[in-house]
Amino acid sequence: MSEKLCPVCNKELVLEEAGYPMGSAFLKSDRIHVDIYSCPECHRVELFQANSDMVKCPKCGTLHSAKEECAICALNKALDGER
Ligand SMILES: [Zn+2]
Ligand SMILES: [Zn+2]
Repeated sequence: MSEKLCPVCNKELVLEEAGYPMGSAFLKSDRIHVDIYSCPECHRVELFQANSDMVKCPKCGTLHSAKEECAICALNKALDGER
């Protein structure tokens, strides 16, 4: 893992929010996910494009956003609940 350092004071940045969905307000279709880091020293906020955006569901193997519940499992859960 590479450390994220504040470009101003060289402090290690603290991860505030991982895989935050962004872009829907700016872009028509493509949403990007960003990791939001902040500097504990100067409170500068840095955004990094999340590379661990998609996670593989351990249950069904579907790729989905780390911030969102697996759609397939959510559907299965809903269907199970109706039985
Ligand atoms: Zn700083
Ligand atoms: Zn799943």
